[in-house]
Amino acid sequence: MEVIRAKRAGACYGVQRALDMAAEVIEAGGRAYTLGPLIHNPQVVDELAARGAAAVASVEDIPAAARTDAAAADEAPAVVIRSHGVTPEVLGAVVERGFSVVDATCPHVSRAQAAAAELAREGCRVVVLGEAGHPEVEGLTAWARQAGGKVDVVAGPGEIPAGLYDPVGVVAQTTQRKENLEAVVAALREQGLDPIVKNTICSATRQRQEAAADLASAVDAMVVIGGRNSSNTTRLAEVCALTCPRTFHIESVDELEATAFAGCRRIGVTAGASTPENQIASVEAFLKTL
Ligand code: SF4
Repeated sequence: MEVIRAKRAGACYGVQRALDMAAEVIEAGGRAYTLGPLIHNPQVVDELAARGAAAVASVEDIPAAARTDAAAADEAPAVVIRSHGVTPEVLGAVVERGFSVVDATCPHVSRAQAAAAELAREGCRVVVLGEAGHPEVEGLTAWARQAGGKVDVVAGPGEIPAGLYDPVGVVAQTTQRKENLEAVVAALREQGLDPIVKNTICSATRQRQEAAADLASAVDAMVVIGGRNSSNTTRLAEVCALTCPRTFHIESVDELEATAFAGCRRIGVTAGASTPENQIASVEAFLKTL
């Protein structure tokens, strides 16, 4: 059995940076909270909680004792902002309550937030291409609104509202596929508009998708590792399934069953941007035993 890893797979720059920043706080002996799970990977989130960086849904959920201490102590607990970024309101609430901010917003996401705000300041109606309700999209929307913009969130060309007029600006959630952005831009042009397009799609996502697609077309089965709540992992699995029907999206090696790979000679492995190296290595080790 040959086990082949996609040329690009696993934790991206932004995720690794967020993990390193949280680890630095923990190792320095500080108390830390993350606003939501730091990354879309349940195993890693549990491990962080065990080491002292608990995930809370909002700053209001940080235990009252920690909040009182924050006001009095020299060293306030840290609130780690995850790579998806947050809204300006959330950032303000963290500062207002006296916590120290460890801003692990991925620089690519910061760039997208700045682009959304810039379009709004230029007077554009801002079309945010992304998944409604996703924290990154909520952030992009909020930064544009704070800059005075009107915002429409669309998942694709079919959701563009009628009656838009120039100037219109488009900004994309970093994990979007470039084909979807192109389709939205084309649909806006069909409405007679001349959109200003900020291509804020992150190359890490595209590189992982292209590497996964290449590999999927050359193997008998594909294993895609990453949280089921991770949109970039789900997209990787979709891309692989297009050319490799035996594609398995798993969160950990425990979900793999040898029988699923009966008759396979070559198995491809890829992993979402929230998947650390040790999880990929354990899957590869299992597959190599078959
Ligand atoms: Fe940053 Fe790209 Fe990773 Fe998202 S996928 S965290 S934008 S490097």
